[in-house]
Amino acid sequence: VAGTITARDIPVLSKSSFPLCMVSMQQALHDSHHLKHDGRMQLGLFLKGIGLPLEEAMCFWRTEMAAVAPGDKFDKQYAYNVRHNYGKEGNRKDYTPYTCAKIITSTPGVGQVHGCPYKTFSQESLRSALARLQVAPSNIEAAVGMAAAGNFQLACESAWEGKHGCACNTGINHPNQYFEESRKAIQ
Ligand code: SF4
Repeated sequence: VAGTITARDIPVLSKSSFPLCMVSMQQALHDSHHLKHDGRMQLGLFLKGIGLPLEEAMCFWRTEMAAVAPGDKFDKQYAYNVRHNYGKEGNRKDYTPYTCAKIITSTPGVGQVHGCPYKTFSQESLRSALARLQVAPSNIEAAVGMAAAGNFQLACESAWEGKHGCACNTGINHPNQYFEESRKAIQ
């Protein structure tokens, strides 16, 4: 992907360069056409952080949620939140994307898919999700072991390395840093 990121780039970028927390939410959104508020904040601010402009964010959310919030319903219930994330509504605060520390300490309830999968997924779900991301099998096992020991960011780093086939020299402490390091490694 070159130049400005558009709504149509998201599925491709998700497969190649999103950390598992964001892949999981993007997939859940795509499958169920909905995310609860905390998930929309976590994914929406991440997308803003990778450079998705407001008008493309609006297009992305409108398209993904069209089956449950068509037309006016989206405008009335969800458009405000998208603009709010970009500092265009309410207190006009320019919200920054969440760090790993913030995501890891969040506690998703029933029906919520935000949070860090290395903390919230069962070992079997984690293995399957990392295999779908085409992480090398030895890194999957290492990541599952680290996650079980509570070392969630080290597990994520191992997955990054097993996906990109090289060392991640920076460690992982932010989903947007995971993304940026991925883009550098791929280009
Ligand atoms: Fe996302 Fe950070 Fe968890 Fe990786 S360690 S899945 S980037 S919250």
